[in-house]
Amino acid sequence: MSSVDPNLSADSPRRIRVLPERLANQIAAGEVVERPASVLKELIENSLDAGARRISIDVEHGGERLIRIRDDGAGIHHEDLAKALGRHATSKIASLDDLENIGSLGFRGEALPSIASVSRLELSSCTPGSESGWKLAAPARHDQMVAQPTPHPPGTTVSVRDLFYNTPARRKFLRTERTEYRHLEDVLKRAALSRFECAFSLRHNGRENYALPAARSDAECTRRVAKLCGAAFVEHALTLSFEAADLQLAGWIGGPGYSRGVVDVQYFFVNGRMVRDNLLRHAVRHAHHGIVENGRQPAYVLYLNISPAEVDVNVHPSKHEVRFRDARSVHDFVVRSLRQALSMQTDAGDSPVGDAAGFTAAQPPSNAPGYSPGHSPDHSRAPVFQSTIREHAGAYDHLRTHSAEQSRAGAPALGEALQHIDRRYVVSRNNHGLVVVDARRACRRVAAARLQAALENDAIVSRPLLVPVTVAIDEAQADLLESREQDLERLGFDLRRVAKDTVSCRGVPAPLSAASPNELVNCVAGAIAADEPQAALPALLKNVLAHCDLTAGWAWDLETMNDLLRQLERLESTFDSQPEENIWRQVNAADMAALLEAPRL
Ligand code: ADP
Ligand code: MG
Repeated sequence: MSSVDPNLSADSPRRIRVLPERLANQIAAGEVVERPASVLKELIENSLDAGARRISIDVEHGGERLIRIRDDGAGIHHEDLAKALGRHATSKIASLDDLENIGSLGFRGEALPSIASVSRLELSSCTPGSESGWKLAAPARHDQMVAQPTPHPPGTTVSVRDLFYNTPARRKFLRTERTEYRHLEDVLKRAALSRFECAFSLRHNGRENYALPAARSDAECTRRVAKLCGAAFVEHALTLSFEAADLQLAGWIGGPGYSRGVVDVQYFFVNGRMVRDNLLRHAVRHAHHGIVENGRQPAYVLYLNISPAEVDVNVHPSKHEVRFRDARSVHDFVVRSLRQALSMQTDAGDSPVGDAAGFTAAQPPSNAPGYSPGHSPDHSRAPVFQSTIREHAGAYDHLRTHSAEQSRAGAPALGEALQHIDRRYVVSRNNHGLVVVDARRACRRVAAARLQAALENDAIVSRPLLVPVTVAIDEAQADLLESREQDLERLGFDLRRVAKDTVSCRGVPAPLSAASPNELVNCVAGAIAADEPQAALPALLKNVLAHCDLTAGWAWDLETMNDLLRQLERLESTFDSQPEENIWRQVNAADMAALLEAPRL
């Protein structure tokens, strides 16, 4: 017989191999490139990082057929064109120190290679002063590419054709042209609200839908906001500007008389970067409590500027989440500022809501030193990442001492798992005898504790799935799911309806990421169907967990079982005195003896 593929042989271990570059890029693309809008976001960020003053965007068929973006930024040296398409290639950082001082929107060096691996990408650029522009079309390997001279004004053009042509699974998830175009518009709006000094245009299928000249004065900025968020918003909006210690908050909020039925005018920028951060979202909602009726949405465009040392932007591949060192103070500052702005407006009573001149709740932005939408103030650039690394190291120390204590104290309270019974109970041995643990209940309890704590801080982290999972459910359930998409998103579920009776799941709450996504989607659907309509989030969460069997995807090996025991122990701070009878039970030697000696019935 000829040689056997080591990967197919049953009794030898699977061999490890390094992924081909293109496959690695395609996997990375799974995180960064979700749809045409995510491509556009990355490309706009690159243009802004290059200092563009004008960005012109052309898209066709919702961006699926073409996304072309041209800027007048610094350009790319022709010898670097091929490099720009290589993985982990960036001009924005060179060392960890730079990462600590990050002032650019990008820095991971992942976007271009990821996009190039799932589309037909062409890069043309010209640096100021060079005689000609250069063009590069991306074939399979970036180190085999050769740039060709081409006429091009100073700046860069990136064109991305036939997105996902080679990844049909991804292409299947694209929605209608209209929907994809809406998402593109959304990206444009965010970018345009983040950089007033840059001009933007957007054409779809040859039609110019947005033409935004650069805005410098307050009046010009307000005009841009009116174009992007609606004239009614601007008419009712309060402008605000607050400063405290290291924090500045400025922008526009809808004011007491203005709310919306949907979440469409909610923009929050941190140091010029658009974020969708649960902490900030929570702060805004909290400030509007009692002002915006239940079921209505506040409208806002807000800019928070904070010393870069106080915020970590490298939390998520697409960088739309941030982590504040002192989350509590940021949250309180935002709540306090907005409350004050809103109450001044309510107290002012007489001034008619809807006055075309707009409102000034606090000082107008121009009075506030350092206010400039989209520009971070010139904070002293203290290291961001050292602090983060220090914190992590601290966390590990804690873990180490924790487990050291545990081994000093002898066996852990719930003992070492021995085996399972019927894929439901874990039997373990501790110092006192045997312990029987109801694994399903235990998992639920551990998850509930983690999720509830996160929910209180409005900080449930969603873990994106590498490959989205489609789940067939019935149409009525899909309707219900769709109606609560926002709430589910806050719980960390990224669910989207893709057909009448199909939803696609792209992300699940991180604490539940061990469970099968399919199972989770069904739990959620079941929970919502059984739910009072619009139950509050904690109740919804409880309901979802009650419907879940988080052990469904379990391997039931010793490692998994022990892991659960350890998590359960950590949860029970008063562990020894308060055994949770419904979750686990100690069977000690006397019990066992009694059991054996009991007369048979
Ligand atoms: P990152 O933005 O994280 O550095 P990218 O893959 O998005 O990574 O881009 C790689 C590099 O290509 C950038 O660091 C930059 O040097 C260059 N580049 C990309 N787009 C542009 C552009 N529009 N203008 C100038 N340089 C660009
Ligand atoms: Mg980039």
